[in-house]
Amino acid sequence: MEQIVTYLSAEQIAERVKALGAELHKDYQGKRPVIVIVLKGSFVFAADLVRAIDLNHLRVDFLAVRSYGEGTESSGVVQIVADLTRPIEDEDVIVVEDIVDTGLTLNYLLDLLQTRKPKSLKICALLHKPSRTRVQVPIDYLGFTIEDKFVVGYGLDFAERYRNLPFIGVLQRT
Ligand code: 5GP
Repeated sequence: MEQIVTYLSAEQIAERVKALGAELHKDYQGKRPVIVIVLKGSFVFAADLVRAIDLNHLRVDFLAVRSYGEGTESSGVVQIVADLTRPIEDEDVIVVEDIVDTGLTLNYLLDLLQTRKPKSLKICALLHKPSRTRVQVPIDYLGFTIEDKFVVGYGLDFAERYRNLPFIGVLQRT
């Protein structure tokens, strides 16, 4: 039997996402940022985040990635399954990630995006597991620091399930 134990409630998440939106709103006054949403895991977070950023000139684009290798361990080599629809040269880019675990995925992605010469490149991640870090990546905007637990919900999956949970939980087998 599987059971999901709540780790971060929908209310806790909503409050934090609102605060992140306000921070981005302040930092990007007068700018026209491009929000790069890393699929699939970030889609729920990003949907709430963009609605919390009160800017008229904001554009969103999507990038779908897949980590090569087996199991839940990140290999660090990322396959771009779907690329951005427009160039990001000279743009103020904010990459939205669901979770930074080892940091390998984001590190690879940042290197790739830098080659496209954005004016600025910042990271906004909902979750960070510092105990698992293998590559340090600068997280400019962070929702929550969490323990070394495998979490699901609010966009995050286990074998493609649980993305639709409105909260973040830990999967437990009984
Ligand atoms: P990294 O390359 O930082 O190790 O891994 C990043 C990716 O691994 C995340 O974007 C996410 O897809 C997946 N991941 C890492 N930790 C978790 C977790 O606790 N739960 C889920 N559902 N996915 C995770």
